[in-house]
Amino acid sequence: MTSITKSAALLILLSATLVGCADKSLLSPAAEAVTTPSPQATTKPVAPTPTPKSTAKPIATPKPSVVPSATPHPTTAPSPTASAKPAAGTTTTKPIAGDKTPYSWYYMKKKTGQVPDFPKETKSFTADQKAVWVGTGKKVYLTIDAGGPLIEVDLMLKSLKENGVKANFFISGNNIKLNPDYLKRVVADGHFVANHTMTHKDFNELSDDQIRKEITDFEALYKKLTGKEVEKYFRFPYGHYNMHNLSLVSSMGYTSVFWSTAMRDWEPRENGAEDPYNDIMNNLHDGNIILMHQGSLENMQALARICKEIKKRGYEFALVNDLQPKK
Ligand SMILES: [Zn+2]
Repeated sequence: MTSITKSAALLILLSATLVGCADKSLLSPAAEAVTTPSPQATTKPVAPTPTPKSTAKPIATPKPSVVPSATPHPTTAPSPTASAKPAAGTTTTKPIAGDKTPYSWYYMKKKTGQVPDFPKETKSFTADQKAVWVGTGKKVYLTIDAGGPLIEVDLMLKSLKENGVKANFFISGNNIKLNPDYLKRVVADGHFVANHTMTHKDFNELSDDQIRKEITDFEALYKKLTGKEVEKYFRFPYGHYNMHNLSLVSSMGYTSVFWSTAMRDWEPRENGAEDPYNDIMNNLHDGNIILMHQGSLENMQALARICKEIKKRGYEFALVNDLQPKK
């Protein structure tokens, strides 16, 4: 128990990072996992560079390995020639203000049942930025990040269906392109699908134009495959964001969904399926937004048990579109 209180002070950086989410090439070890492992977990943390006493804000260091794929402005770009119109009206999107100091989402875990503390940045989020990170009441929002490998899909869908659980999927477009059936099955089962960008890049490394394209490319692909508009909910790859990008995404109609539980599930779990189960149950709280990566075998193996236990503890599973952004 004492370790629990001690641990309350520790930062849990959950930059929803990597594997689950991206090519392994993005797994530059030093970059993301600044993390302090959560000592509260019954499992031994496996952080490569544990620095538990750090009180420093885990500002994401931009990953040098991320290379923006497209140059936003081809050299052949036509210059606006229409003489009649003043240059002022040339942009179709209004400029977005906001600080570009990079942040990496995290939270500070407390005792089981208590809502974690959140980074001080959240205090400066405005209503316009439409961000959510925890809800209220006896509700749990299971969010599944499918920005990386897709494994045990049958098991996942079966576990959700058999337990009557609808989950929220944040899927990247490149995954959908390669596996259109994945999207179709998730949609057919009635789950909520939202925008997790086209290519799952770190938005803090992209220009505004590139960001818009990441989002609209996903929208177009989703529509092509499902015939429907995608829900205007968004998750930043790796949880990397800044105030400017939050406003930019919001200007496109999106609510950004962060989380109040995540796990180091982009690497193998020491105790197998026990680990995700314990990580989630030990942090279960009202309005809990759980982030789980599709790419973790242990998550998939634990999923049915997790769904059952969450219900047993009196929570209902909900969709992120009932969350209220900060006013
Ligand atoms: Zn992701």
